[in-house]
Formats: sequence, C-alpha cells, structure tokens
Amino acid sequence: MNNKEICLYERKQNKNSDFVMWMAFPGIYSFSMSSLGYLWMYKTIDLHDGVNIERICSDTCKTRFNIKDVKLFGFSFSFDLDFLTIFSMLEKYHIPVKSQDRTNEPLIFAGGPVVSANPEPYKDFFDFFIIGDGEDVNLAAVDICKNNSDKNTALKLLSEVEGIYVPAFPKKVKKLTKKLEECIYTPILSEDAFFKNTFIMEMSRGCANRCAFCLASYLNLPLRCIPYEELIKTIDLGLQYTDKIALLGAQISAHPHFNDICKYIYDKIESGEKIEMSVSSLRVDAITSDVVRTLTAAGQKNSTLAIEAGSERLRKIINKNLSEEQIFNAVKIAKENGLKGLKFYGMIGLPSETYDDLEALVKLAKKIKKENKNFDVSFGFSSFVPKPHTPFQWCGREDSKSLEEKAHFLKKELHKIGISANISSIKWDYWQAVLSRGDEYLNDFIYEVYKRGGKLGAFKSAAKKFNINTDYYALEHYSFEKKLPWDFIEITPGKEFLIKENHRLLLL
Ligand code: SF4
Repeated sequence: MNNKEICLYERKQNKNSDFVMWMAFPGIYSFSMSSLGYLWMYKTIDLHDGVNIERICSDTCKTRFNIKDVKLFGFSFSFDLDFLTIFSMLEKYHIPVKSQDRTNEPLIFAGGPVVSANPEPYKDFFDFFIIGDGEDVNLAAVDICKNNSDKNTALKLLSEVEGIYVPAFPKKVKKLTKKLEECIYTPILSEDAFFKNTFIMEMSRGCANRCAFCLASYLNLPLRCIPYEELIKTIDLGLQYTDKIALLGAQISAHPHFNDICKYIYDKIESGEKIEMSVSSLRVDAITSDVVRTLTAAGQKNSTLAIEAGSERLRKIINKNLSEEQIFNAVKIAKENGLKGLKFYGMIGLPSETYDDLEALVKLAKKIKKENKNFDVSFGFSSFVPKPHTPFQWCGREDSKSLEEKAHFLKKELHKIGISANISSIKWDYWQAVLSRGDEYLNDFIYEVYKRGGKLGAFKSAAKKFNINTDYYALEHYSFEKKLPWDFIEITPGKEFLIKENHRLLLL
C-alpha cells in the first residue's frame, strides 16, 4: 500500500507464510487502481491465509518481494493488446516468455474476458487460465500452487478444477458463472487512480439483451443483479470514505431497483450530502427523468447512448430492438432534465450493412440536431469485430478499404450538419479481429509482433515472416460445420443456440 491509498478492508498483518504471489495489471498504476476486477481479486487473495500477495503494474519501480521468492504470477487480461505489456513485464523480471522455457520461475496465469473467450492465441505463454468469473476459483488455484511445489503435479491438479484451463492438460472447460450475492466494489481507493478516489461498485453482471455481436453479453449470461439491500449497504460503505461513486454493469438499467438506487442517492444529495455519481453507459430505453435528474444532481453533464446502428432494419438484425421514437424520446428526457449533451455510439461494417443504413444514421442525426438546439450531440464509431461465443462469430469483417470509405462517408456527412464523429482505427480493429478469432498458430506470431515493437507495421511484418494469412481470421465467413479454436470452452447457451440465432437474425 502506498500512502495515497485508503484500504477499505482490514488487512491481515504479518502473514506467517513464505508463499509469495504477484498479481499484475498490464498497464500503469493509475489504470490499475480503477480496475474493479483486478482490485477485487487482489483483495480476495490478500484476505486468504497463507499467501503474501503484491500488486505489480507496468510502471512499478520497486517491489516489496524479490522475483526469486515469487511462486505464482497472475495477470489480468482484459484487452486484446494486453499481451504486449504482459511480455514486457515478464522480460523486465527476466522470466522466459514461453512456459516451456520456464523451470524454477513462478507459475504464470491469466484471467479476464479476452482469455476467457479464446485463450488459444496465448496458450504458449501461460501455465494456466481462469475461464469466467474467477472470484471463487482463484483461492482454490492459490492453494493448489501453495501445497504442490512440483510444477507438473500442481498443473495436473489445476486442470481438474472446473473453470481452469491448463494447456499442458487440454480438456473441455466449463466457463465459471458466479451467483452474485455480495456487491463487488473498489476495495482500495487512491488519489492517483485514473478515476481519482472513486468508489466503483458493480450493480449487475451480464446483459440479457444479447446483441448478436456482443461478447460482454454472451460471455456473462445470465444477467445477475445484486440484491437491493446489499447495494444500499455498499453505497453507505463507500460514502464513508469518498463522495465519488460509480455504478457499474453492462445493463445496470435492467436492475429491478435501478430507479430506487437513483432515488436513494438523489434524496441524499437533496438533503445536502455532496455526492458525485456516474454510471457506465445507459441504454436508450432506460433513460427516465428520475435517472437523468439524479445524474445531473450528482454532477454528470453528458452521457453516452449506444444505438449501434442507424436504421431500424439493421438494429433488428443485430438484436438491438430500438425504435427511432425511443431514441428521440431519450434525447428529449436527457435534455429536459439537465444533461448538456449526448454522445451516440455506433458500429460500422455490421453484417448485412449497406449505404442505406449509413444514410439512415445521417438522417437520424440530422433530425436529433434539428429538434435539439443548444444540445451537444456527437458520435463515436468502431468497426465490427467478430467475437467468439456470439451469434456473429462466423461472420467475417468487411475489408478495410471499404470500411475506410464508409468511415469517410459518415465523417463527411455528419460534419456537414455540424456533428463531430470519432471513428476508431479500422486498421487496429482488423488486428483485433485476427486475435479474437485466432488459434494456436498465432502464438509465435504475437511474440514476434512484440519483438518488432507492437505497432501496426510489426503486425504486418510478423505475419509476413510466418506466412500467416491473417485475412482468414479477420475477414473470412466461416461455415457452421467448422471446428472453432474456442469450441472447447463450454458457455451456456451453447453453439446450437448461436447457430439458430444467427439464422434467425440474418434472415430477417
Ligand atoms: S445492450 Fe449493450 S451490453 Fe447489452 S448486449 Fe447490447 S451491446 Fe451488449
């Protein structure tokens, strides 16, 4: 703990153990302190008997424990490109990057959405992976590693635990789905966190909407909501330490008590308590005057609304059943209740998209702008990336040239009506798609990308070196009969449902 940190739980001092574990975040300290999953995992293990755990970030200069004493080294792996920082962190501590080259070094593992969905492109570098909600299985993994100094024995035992994938002992792995009864919150606050001194708390996990491209939904089904009393207790705990609260959840507005929670916070503000509250992006159909009133009273000026596609036709195809009327209504409520602006988020290159859909989006934007003078409207776009375990996992991306043209068209047309549009890099999205649908043959490739500096050129030249047809991963439409690299990970509702859903939506 550094002296700018406030710990919200009672730490066990002087643990009489020589079992040392590092829990690493592949990014700088300030980001790590705003990463709820990472900090919660640290807390759970910190409270566990018989293990000394230390947090490590990419900018950590001095460590409490020497790497020679570390027996277990875990990484949080949330974004496709995290592998670049993970490799540099391993090298910083002189640890061979490939597991086959490690003997006396600690066991290295990873957990998080990227590797839960498809660990195959990374399997040469980690001794094991935690697939799904790792809160409970982490402790079992720690105990196995602590009680078995022989690596092979430990790995064999780990492979027998539900939710753990050990590449040396391959088998079908069932994704872990935790029943959420307690609320997960930021256990350590920091002035140096990216979201300074912000108490982040999880209201719900998963999203029942099942948009057909959305990994966050399919990887975390079913939607689980934290009980109301537990949420109130957690809010009160957070407010003892800070006045900044962030409510987290892919679909928090689907929580049956979302309005009640907003009201609870609003009443506190009304009675003179200073509270800054923010929420992760809202669904259009969840914008109510009560919600917006609370957000504005709690200091939020703008919000983000994900509409994904510009036409109702395409929104239906991706299973985002949202009418224009609902969108206009949401803007009206947002404006009337004090928000200064809205940023709309969409995607280009979704399966079956044509220029008619893009024109519909421009028309929609024009109408919003015209009807809402003095209200800040902007757009952000990314391009479609096929994700494992979703109904669109078989759909290839559109080629980069035609996506660039679409991006140019949108920017130009929106600019004409005075709306700014940010568009994510089409080139980086392409490489994300390669990794997302990658297989074991990409392991050497990604290490080469790292060695060549990790920029766009490095991806291109590494693919050339290994003669990899990267279009096969990113652009090709796969047949339903094809065996997919991530098929061995069992996630409910399963492949048969995904095929049916793909047929149902794309034939609309
Ligand atoms: S509403 Fe958002 S989180 Fe839910 S499935 Fe759709 S894109 Fe994913």
